Amino acid sequence: MSTDSVIISVLDVCHNMVRESRRKKMFLLVFIKKEVIVPHAEYLAMLKAKQAEEILHQLEDMVRLQAQGWSFQQADWENMGNVIRQAGLGDSIRNALDLARERAIRESSEQQVVRLVPAAATSIQVLEKVTCGSEEKCSVCLEEMLTGSQVTQMPCSHVFHGDCIVQWLKTSHMCPVCRFKLPTT
Ligand SMILES: [Zn+2]
Ligand SMILES: [Zn+2]
Repeated sequence: MSTDSVIISVLDVCHNMVRESRRKKMFLLVFIKKEVIVPHAEYLAMLKAKQAEEILHQLEDMVRLQAQGWSFQQADWENMGNVIRQAGLGDSIRNALDLARERAIRESSEQQVVRLVPAAATSIQVLEKVTCGSEEKCSVCLEEMLTGSQVTQMPCSHVFHGDCIVQWLKTSHMCPVCRFKLPTT
């Protein structure tokens, strides 16, 4: 049951109470408590991942501070090495640093946005105009293309409203349906 449907049910009950008792006012406090049940193994895995993340952050901080001229005792590094082994992050500080680096690379590539490259103007101009054989939806505007009307066909044979595909290709050189690539400038 969604929160919205709980609220609607409560309001229904209120409405009936007001009508039956002919009360003019009613004061009502409603608490909605949400409980989430996570399987124990999953919870432990979550805790472990969180702990590993914190250890890697600490290690990165140590390395950064050391590079800035801060000096750590041999015992500090040994402690860190023990913590890393206990957390299953590898046999040495080096292993853990490799993990931290991999994670950083992964995060930066996840954040990378796909850069949109427009199609070359000439490749847009030469697109074939065909007569729409059957009623189907234009994937750019999601509206019907009428049978018998003139539509524009991409080399991959996907068809669109002329204006729609021209606008699209000025932003991206890829077919909106199959990602077929038109030449770019
Ligand atoms: Zn369209
Ligand atoms: Zn296509």
